[in-house]
Amino acid sequence: MTDKYTMGVDIGSTASKCIILKNGRDIVGSSVISVGTGTSGSERVIVEALKRANKKIEEISKTIATGYGRNTLKSADKEMSELSCHSKGARFLFPDVQTLIDIGGQDAKVLKISSKGRLMNFVMNDKCAAGTGRFLDVMSNVLEIDISKLAETGAESKEPVSISSTCTVFAESEVISHLSRGEAICDIIAGIHNSVSSRVAGLAKRLGVISPVAMTGGVAQNLGVVKALEKELNVSIETSPLTQVAGALGAALYAYDLLEKE
Ligand code: ADP
Repeated sequence: MTDKYTMGVDIGSTASKCIILKNGRDIVGSSVISVGTGTSGSERVIVEALKRANKKIEEISKTIATGYGRNTLKSADKEMSELSCHSKGARFLFPDVQTLIDIGGQDAKVLKISSKGRLMNFVMNDKCAAGTGRFLDVMSNVLEIDISKLAETGAESKEPVSISSTCTVFAESEVISHLSRGEAICDIIAGIHNSVSSRVAGLAKRLGVISPVAMTGGVAQNLGVVKALEKELNVSIETSPLTQVAGALGAALYAYDLLEKE
């Protein structure tokens, strides 16, 4: 049997992600570009993933696009919703997951997945930046700390500050006033993580949380948020280094299913 390659491209609000799969099983190429829909991110992320997989685009049998900007990828064979692709990708990474928390650049979703892997229900916040990656991006700018360093700095906190505003703009002013009062940066970051976690936990409690719980999306790479959510929900949460590409992975898996049906 000759090997079959499929591709999943997740064009998000904030980042573009691509996965190349061999025979619907092995990830042979993966890439993330930190710009999303409406940018060159979708083209660049495909070029990068092909390079990593050492493949040419002609060798890819099927491509599925997902994410907020999925309709902009004209070369895709099909578009699919983020909810379907994230559920599929998450089941591949965490086979028993029943509650999936996905925090992306501009929204947060909590998905209930049946023991057979079907999406049963979901709740979503896409109206407000609080409780999303955007909130963390704004705060990391104010604090002049790279987004990937927030978790390790926040982990040193003994006394997290309290951030009472849910609105990102007012919360940013609160962070600035904590800074001007000379509060420790680690305590401010821990307060920021708690703020994101309490917003998302509120969403999760509306749906009901059943273990095993896993997290996908770019923010799942921030262990400070993951730990704050574990504490708030009193559950343990699985993550993986592939959380940000879970949607692209789901799309590549669906692309393989499509190919098999032909
Ligand atoms: P979208 O699909 O909406 O574009 P993603 O799921 O790709 O969003 O998540 C993007 C968010 O992930 C960013 O807003 C940022 O806050 C967060 N993020 C990206 N890289 C990292 C990292 N290395 N560590 C922690 N957080 C990160």
